[in-house]
Amino acid sequence: MSVETQKETLGFQTEVKQLLHLMIHSLYSNKEIFLRELISNASDAVDKLRFEALSKPELLEGGAELKIRVSFDKDAKTVTLEDNGIGMSRDDAITHLGTIAKSGTADFMKNLSGDQKKDSHLIGQFGVGFYSAFIVADQVEVFSRRAGLAASEGVHWSSKGEGEFEIATVDKADRGTRIVLHLKSGEDEFADGWRLRNIIKKYSDHIALPIELPKEQAAAEGEEAPAQEWEVVNRASALWTRPRTEVKDEEYQEFYKHIAHDYENPLSWSHNKVEGKLEYSSLLYVPARAPFDLYQREAPKGLKLYVQRVFVMDQAESFLPLYLRFIKGVVDSNDLSLNVSREILQKDPIIDSMKSALTKRVLDMLEKLAKNEPEQYKGFWKNFGQVMKEGPAEDFANKEKIAGLLRFASTHGDDGEQNVSLAEYLARAKEGQDKIYYLTGETYAQVKNSPHLEVFRKKGIEVLLLTDRIDEWLMSYLSDFDGKSFVDVARGDLDLGNLDSEEDKKAAEEVAKSKEGLVERIKTALGDAVSEVRVSHRLTDSPAILAIGEQDLGMQMRQILQASGQKVPDSKPIFEFNPAHPLIEKLDGEQSEERFGDLSHILFDQAALAAGDSLKDPAAYVRRLNKLLVELSV
Ligand code: ADP
Repeated sequence: MSVETQKETLGFQTEVKQLLHLMIHSLYSNKEIFLRELISNASDAVDKLRFEALSKPELLEGGAELKIRVSFDKDAKTVTLEDNGIGMSRDDAITHLGTIAKSGTADFMKNLSGDQKKDSHLIGQFGVGFYSAFIVADQVEVFSRRAGLAASEGVHWSSKGEGEFEIATVDKADRGTRIVLHLKSGEDEFADGWRLRNIIKKYSDHIALPIELPKEQAAAEGEEAPAQEWEVVNRASALWTRPRTEVKDEEYQEFYKHIAHDYENPLSWSHNKVEGKLEYSSLLYVPARAPFDLYQREAPKGLKLYVQRVFVMDQAESFLPLYLRFIKGVVDSNDLSLNVSREILQKDPIIDSMKSALTKRVLDMLEKLAKNEPEQYKGFWKNFGQVMKEGPAEDFANKEKIAGLLRFASTHGDDGEQNVSLAEYLARAKEGQDKIYYLTGETYAQVKNSPHLEVFRKKGIEVLLLTDRIDEWLMSYLSDFDGKSFVDVARGDLDLGNLDSEEDKKAAEEVAKSKEGLVERIKTALGDAVSEVRVSHRLTDSPAILAIGEQDLGMQMRQILQASGQKVPDSKPIFEFNPAHPLIEKLDGEQSEERFGDLSHILFDQAALAAGDSLKDPAAYVRRLNKLLVELSV
């Protein structure tokens, strides 16, 4: 044992303590995954070394074969993992094995419920990583040395997983990391060659570098034990380089968990090799669940980039548009240079054409999922639908394709679930219907009962109900689908086109003519509050409604702009009334101009309320209404 210097005891970051506690208590049913996690880290460490060595070959220190070795000691009840990757300096060990660097970690931890089953899913999303060692070990020791540092600058990290760790500087002749797990009592089953071999085959077969176990060998009687021999137990070739037909689903799934740091299987994947002008392989995955930090700006996104099988960078963001940031995967190019940088990637025209091809692949994969596994697609939409809605604005070229993947709630269902596609909507459209009708609003309950839907209900026409914050903005980028244009039913002068019969139209015109006088009176009464007053043909039950001008901002957009501190252009609604409603008839017959004015204002305010808007002068509304109530009761 070499001398330890600068020994100190440090505390884990609070989040690490919480994570350790949860991991030990909620992942007990699948303990063996600790090995997958540690091998995954070792493989990443080797990838990093290989990459850094491209510009600094001296880091290879003579160039022994890059590999991972797993060994065990039945008597001491230990399992040991050793890699000759990039290694860690003392400072690296303190930061990487004492804190969690992911953005939003504290928020994430707050969401944990204490319900072990639920939390184990959440932890899966979060990624278990190194700390999973404590599922099976009650003491973990890490010996490491960063490539390029002197042998005397090794580090010895040790912890019982209970809030603190010890750190000391030691000699370490070989570069890389050795992790010694002191198994908990009852976990000694892992100190077994057969067991370890099976776990490695099951979870880590796809790891591209050799994973070795000691070869079982019996020393002959009276002879000295022979020198230890090792044998490779995994396949040790990059999975994406193998032909599709030879890769099993389980292998694809385990590979996903390795690159995505996810605990669950992916929903779907697409593996392709492109030859010709550009040559590259790609393996793209759709996760089953949204990561906890999907909406955080700094959250990791992008693909793992390899150039001719050599790992070059994580989170290469230039290969997919932002609205597909949840896609995980690998791209391995034969055309790029090994010393390509993020800056170069952003400008390289090769990347542009790869990006558009990869984007298509993802959209095709999603189309297939929607078609063949609609239940799975529902799950996908719940997790990633909001992000997909960013698509039409970002990716003009694929607008129609993305629109086909969108799912909406509609008047056709009654649960507010977003599961109607535009194709489905059109397939059951009324005869002669050449528009796609939609209504946006704050909540499902509000839009579902909106007076704007009355005429649609009467005629049995389906309307899409859009209540996500992003929806109005989304619709500003969608003008048509399959040749049918979108119509916001709360906007402008609703024209039902062929859906209104000639008689209907004639009758409506006549009514409008006969109410010209009333229109003028209301206009005078409401004055500045409205841009226009007109007879409505979209109401059956309500007395009045407010329509938005064709070019005006809707409520959602106004609120978004206001929330971001921008000045919102003033726009006045159109007041439409239902001439057949008893209140309007009453209004029409009202002799007192004062009462006429009050009632008009009340109808106006009520229409605003029904649309989910707030009143400019709520007190005036209450005053007018009360005045009427008093008159009623005498
Ligand atoms: P993640 O791998 O998701 O970043 P982990 O908790 O598994 O999280 O590991 C934390 C960090 O510790 C890694 O990002 C890496 O920097 C470092 N690390 C872990 N294992 C090794 C290893 N075998 N060699 C070098 N560094 C490692």
